[in-house]
Amino acid sequence: MIYCVEDEINIRELLIYTLETTGFSARGFSSGKELRAALREELPDLILLDIMLPGEDGYSILERLKASQETKNIPVIMVTAKEAEFDKVRGLESGADDYITKPFGMMEFVARVKAVLRRCSRQEEDKELRCGELILSVGKHQVCWKGQKIDLTRKEFELLQYLMENKGLVMTRNQILCHVWGYDFDGETRTVDVHVRTLRQKLGDAGNQIETVRGVGYRIGA
Ligand code: CA
Repeated sequence: MIYCVEDEINIRELLIYTLETTGFSARGFSSGKELRAALREELPDLILLDIMLPGEDGYSILERLKASQETKNIPVIMVTAKEAEFDKVRGLESGADDYITKPFGMMEFVARVKAVLRRCSRQEEDKELRCGELILSVGKHQVCWKGQKIDLTRKEFELLQYLMENKGLVMTRNQILCHVWGYDFDGETRTVDVHVRTLRQKLGDAGNQIETVRGVGYRIGA
C-alpha cells in the first residue's frame, strides 16, 4: 500500500492511477490531517509527500512521521513543485528517502518508487535486533540466545520482534494486539497474555527479559 499526500487533485489522481496500473495499491490524501487519520487504520509501505500543502507542510509532516515509533520506518519520497522549492539538506536530513521534482515522467516516478521500496526491504531483511545476548534476525526469521537457535511460531516471533523494536518501552496489550494480530478489540487482549507466556517458556532464561508491567502491558530490556 502506498499513500500519496498531494493537494492538487489532477496530480494526485495521476499518481494513484500510475501506481495502480503498475500493480500497487494506493490511496490519496489532500492534507496531513487526512494522512494521519489513515495512518491510524493502516501503515503503508511508502508515503509520497508533497511539500506545499494546505495547513501543515510536507516538512512538518515528515518530522512528525520520523518522530513516531510507529511510522519512523516507513520510507518517504518528497514530491516537490520545483527544484528550488525543495531544501535538499532539510528534506534528506529529516529522513526523506528520495525526492522527485514536478513535472516528472511516469516512468521515472515508478522507477524511483520501486528503487526506494527495494532499498528499504533489503535493509529490513538484514535488520538484527538485540537485547543482551538475545538476537532476532528479521530477514532470516531467526531468534538466537547465546548462540542457540530458538524455534518460535510466527505470532511469537512477531510479538518478540515488536517488543524488541520498542526496547525499553512499555507496550500495552492493545498496541500489541493491534500491531501483531492486526485488530484492536479490548476483549481479545488475553490472546497477548497467552502468547507472552508461551514465548517466555520457549526463550528460557532469555524470557526473563520480558517484563510484565502490571495493568499496562509488556516491556523488554528496561
Ligand atoms: Ca501542493
